[in-house]
Amino acid sequence: MTFEPLASDFFSYESLLTDREKEALAALRGWLERDVKPIVNDHWDRGEFPMQIVKPLAELGALSYAWDETKPFKNSAVFRGFVALELARVDASVATFAGVQNGLATGSIAIAGSTEQRAEWIPRLASGEVIGAFGLTEPLSGSDSARGLRTTARREGDEWVLNGAKRWIGNATFSDITIIWAKDEADGQVKGFIVPTSTPGYTATKIERKISLRAVQNADITLEHVVVPESLRLQNANSFRDTAAVLRQTRAEVAWSAVGTSIGAYEAAVAYAKRREQFGKPIGAHQLIQDLLVKCLGNITASLGMVVRVSEMLDRGEQRDEHSALTKAYTTARMRETVAWAREAVGGNGIVLDYDVARFFADAEALYSYEGTREMNTLIVGRAITGEAAFV
Ligand SMILES: Cc1cc2nc3c(=O)[nH]c(=O)nc-3n(C[C@H](O)[C@H](O)[C@H](O)COP(=O)(O)OP(=O)(O)OC[C@H]3O[C@@H](n4cnc5c(N)ncnc54)[C@H](O)[C@@H]3O)c2cc1C
Repeated sequence: MTFEPLASDFFSYESLLTDREKEALAALRGWLERDVKPIVNDHWDRGEFPMQIVKPLAELGALSYAWDETKPFKNSAVFRGFVALELARVDASVATFAGVQNGLATGSIAIAGSTEQRAEWIPRLASGEVIGAFGLTEPLSGSDSARGLRTTARREGDEWVLNGAKRWIGNATFSDITIIWAKDEADGQVKGFIVPTSTPGYTATKIERKISLRAVQNADITLEHVVVPESLRLQNANSFRDTAAVLRQTRAEVAWSAVGTSIGAYEAAVAYAKRREQFGKPIGAHQLIQDLLVKCLGNITASLGMVVRVSEMLDRGEQRDEHSALTKAYTTARMRETVAWAREAVGGNGIVLDYDVARFFADAEALYSYEGTREMNTLIVGRAITGEAAFV
């Protein structure tokens, strides 16, 4: 499929991609427009994830940021970012599904697993044969998960016994494995476990009545005397610092999804502004509507510059926590403005699913809060600027 530059990428950041990457992106874009876009509003409405898209997503490479021997991920972070953008531009739930599968579940194993664990699990996650989830947040511990985890892990011989509860875990209603982060009773350090969801004592219950990201599901998980072998403990996860290493790269990817969500809303608004007529001409010919659209494009263009740069830094091993934190906090704040302006430009129809902006508008709220709220990411950057931690 031929690659057509995206008009919303006003400063042509896509030109940084190689020809092979552009081809892969064009194939993904074509499939998303043809097979996914027409079904997403309906799934959002029903609160159901379109499981039939998992296999094509894998075939198009959107689940395989495939690990190789020399580095955690084979594809460049900039390319992976454009994949996340492309998914979110059509649907933020689809982008979230892939973000959990690739970044959080596969990423935990790629970054904190042993060579054997990588070899065993990553190809199966990349092909979609195994669906993964990432269980860090708990009912009583969200922003303070670095110190506040209550889920425990106790070593008994060659096995570990896990007890506790998790909340908000994406993909967990249908995942085959969930990475569970728990405090080792012996040394108080956070460790990660690959928990097959069929393990006795593991229960996942769908969180109902969400108003954001309705298509992708989140679960409450309970762990009651869940026994896993030592071979399923992530061998290189020895403290929360290793969990944070996973979040450092996924936060940057959420920022890319925020840009994609903004673009999805903006493009829907532009299309509407060209066809909807009021006062005898398309609303897009009125100055105030152009003002809304230009403000959206300004936010998108500034945010794109930021995500591209932070991904380049990740590829060069230069990205620090505060870099991805600033990018996530800034781009999600710009996304929230952008989806609101896009919704405004569509008037009353902007609150009806059929015109797409309503879905982007609602979904933006979850992206704004997950993987570190704006406040938490602000405090991470604040600490870097001043040398003073102001979390408590
Ligand atoms: C749709 C969705 C998907 C998610 N997916 C996953 C997942 O797959 N896996 C997973 O582990 N988690 C997941 N989460 C959890 C998400 O990461 C948490 O919701 C997030 O970290 C915030 O935690 P909380 O909701 O408990 O809010 P809280 O921590 O209770 O925060 C509430 C408010 O208080 C503010 N606040 C807290 N502490 C401070 C402070 N010191 N100073 C100033 N303000 C503060 C916060 O910024 C926020 O505004 C998901 C959440 C959502 C909504």
